Amino acid sequence: MQNLTNRSKVVSDKKMTFLERIYLPAILGGMRITFGHLFRKKTTVQYPEVNREFSDVYRGRHVLKRDDEGRERCTACGLCAVACPAEAITMVAAERKPGEENLYREEKYAAVYEINMLRCIFCGDCEEACPKEAIFLTKEMVQSEYQRDKFIYGKPELVEPLDPAKRIDVSKRQTPEVLEFKKDKRYKHNK
Ligand code: SF4
Ligand code: SF4
Repeated sequence: MQNLTNRSKVVSDKKMTFLERIYLPAILGGMRITFGHLFRKKTTVQYPEVNREFSDVYRGRHVLKRDDEGRERCTACGLCAVACPAEAITMVAAERKPGEENLYREEKYAAVYEINMLRCIFCGDCEEACPKEAIFLTKEMVQSEYQRDKFIYGKPELVEPLDPAKRIDVSKRQTPEVLEFKKDKRYKHNK
């Protein structure tokens, strides 16, 4: 049969020489490679003391965004949960009451919103599916825990802080077309 590549090697069963039987040349050859690597630039970092810089579109843990006035953007439509291939998202919807207009942007909001980070595969489908630009993935990693229930992130972990200085910038995750659209205040979506 004709070989598809020239990488195959014919194994010989010839008798080993004395030097081959004491393995010394092979050990020295291996040590030469090891020492050669000692003086090369390291490709690993001392995590967790040192963190790598992630790309702006890295898919790490999620954030539930607020709008410019600090109101929660999520309207509990459930599209993110339907889009999620890992069935990691659950929520309970509630109706906004009079006087809560400064808390929730839409008439319906998520009273409970949970993501099971052990199920999540960080595919970003929830981010893509959301019509309200309420959920985004971020550059932050999910921290390790000893108990499984700690990986179920609820609103306290997911909703971004009210303090404008602590908001999470997601503008680099959006296309120029979306950012341009958001500037147009004629659309209810942008008000
Ligand atoms: S990133 Fe993917 S797997 Fe994770 S919650 Fe979103 S849709 Fe589900
Ligand atoms: S995060 Fe977006 S898609 Fe998911 S329920 Fe809220 S508004 Fe709907």
